[in-house]
Amino acid sequence: MKTTSTPLLSALQAGQIAVLGVPFDEFSSFMRGAAFAPARIREALYCESTSFCTERGIDLNDELRFAIFEDLQLSSGIEGYQSIEQMIGTVLDQQARSICLGGDHSISYPIIKAYAKRHPQLTVIHLDAHPDLYDEYNGNRYSHACPFTRVMEDRLASRLIQIGIRNVTPFHRAQMARFSVETIFARSWHRKPRIELSGPVYLSLDLDVLDPAFAPGVSHYEPGGLTTRDVIDFIQQIDVPLVGADIVELNPLRDTQGITAAVAAKLLKEIAGKMLNPID
Ligand code: MN
Ligand code: MN
Repeated sequence: MKTTSTPLLSALQAGQIAVLGVPFDEFSSFMRGAAFAPARIREALYCESTSFCTERGIDLNDELRFAIFEDLQLSSGIEGYQSIEQMIGTVLDQQARSICLGGDHSISYPIIKAYAKRHPQLTVIHLDAHPDLYDEYNGNRYSHACPFTRVMEDRLASRLIQIGIRNVTPFHRAQMARFSVETIFARSWHRKPRIELSGPVYLSLDLDVLDPAFAPGVSHYEPGGLTTRDVIDFIQQIDVPLVGADIVELNPLRDTQGITAAVAAKLLKEIAGKMLNPID
């Protein structure tokens, strides 16, 4: 039983999927708390009320290619933030892949930077209520409201596909056009849009893509979102190599029953299952 996390990243082996806590929430705009999330998600994953099995039957408990690590040790401020890129680069250079547990959504920019250096034709799929395409927010260009502007300015993604979006300002619309973002708004999700993918794909999952009824433990409530089943089905139908992922924006201070942590742990298992067996 994987009841404790492996403490040291030096134990990482080639071919493994490394689950890494990234406890950084300093670039949140409305409220902090996401830094507490990785520990809560691991707790939900280890909880004896459920198993380590994916819905398609991979027992991650027996899977040597699935390794859970403690949180990255990050110093505070921009220095800690920028060190995320180097740490993920170390994982990738060991021929491993990462699933990062945020933290706020600002962490996706340094993570994707590390991926893009090794995957020049990267497709980024971004599930979120918000496009996170501000140029700056409260004077901070690294705010969690801005990561996908930085990703597209730096040409880190050959395609950016945003799904579940339902809070868009006129500025966001202009940014979507400027960067040729492919957007599937929450309001058109029911039409079951077909997305043709080619790999490699990086998946960035902001838990507020889910309706707050399913995931109340987030900082920004935006009703009208996807169901947990919608997101699981979407993950399961990805038919190209998934090279990495993050699950961000769980705020344990608002997750009084631990429901959102359980949702995050469930999605983590399904993402890991898909990364291990892309054609299943
Ligand atoms: Mn976000
Ligand atoms: Mn969001």
